[in-house]
Amino acid sequence: MRKFVVAGNWKMNTTAKSGKKLVKEVLKKAKPGKVKVVFGAPATHLQQTQALLKGHKGFFAAAQNVHHEQSGAYTGEISVDMVKDIDVKYVIIGHSERRQYQKENNTVLLAKTKLSIDNKRKVIFCCGESLSIREKGTHFQYVVRQLTATIFKLSPKEFKQIVIAYEPIWAIGTGKTASPEQAQDMHFAIRAAVRKKMGDKLADNVSILYGGSVKPANALEIFKQPDVDGGLIGGASLKAEDFVAIIQAAKKQSKADRINVAHFTANL
Ligand code: PEP
Repeated sequence: MRKFVVAGNWKMNTTAKSGKKLVKEVLKKAKPGKVKVVFGAPATHLQQTQALLKGHKGFFAAAQNVHHEQSGAYTGEISVDMVKDIDVKYVIIGHSERRQYQKENNTVLLAKTKLSIDNKRKVIFCCGESLSIREKGTHFQYVVRQLTATIFKLSPKEFKQIVIAYEPIWAIGTGKTASPEQAQDMHFAIRAAVRKKMGDKLADNVSILYGGSVKPANALEIFKQPDVDGGLIGGASLKAEDFVAIIQAAKKQSKADRINVAHFTANL
């Protein structure tokens, strides 16, 4: 069955010193059990983060980005080889901030994803709609289209390396969280689309994380939803105490009996 994952995305925050303190505090206090914990550190202290996590089962570092070419004249970029070289297992791809500010389109995102998987990295692939799309009521179609143009083009073998993160743009860094029902409805739709494209086994096994203003106060209610398998956490991952509380909420829920609603409904 699928794994619970709690991934922190530090974005362009922390220094080597404050990042080290943060990781150490989380390592000291978190008892994640079977929940996987991921730290999306900035490139300058990714190697340090990886070194701090070495030997800590279930804890991983993630690059926040990689370039879509293997190597070459791309000033300022980091390659999959560089990430692999320092043994970082995860890469975050398709975050809405990169889609918006770096104009990353589906073609580029698919190339980055494929290159990462070819190089044995796991990909946390982000998707999600803007407020105007949500208000128009076309958010399910929009998100499924984002996936159809990217990770649904992978082979089933490649798809196994994917963790999906649903992040409604209107909830990122705004303090506005999707309600647990809104999150569940979208996660259900995503899993149903994976089922249609990739089959039952991959649909049942893919972890789908929710991201968008997850905090200790709302984490458990969101994680209780049957198709929510953890979170991608921005702001709250920068405070050890908050990140640990979110990890513990995921642990609590990962132990609860989870009815596989998507599978049940799909078989009706
Ligand atoms: C994110 O950046 O992926 C995110 C979900 O941010 P926040 O938790 O701050 O909304």
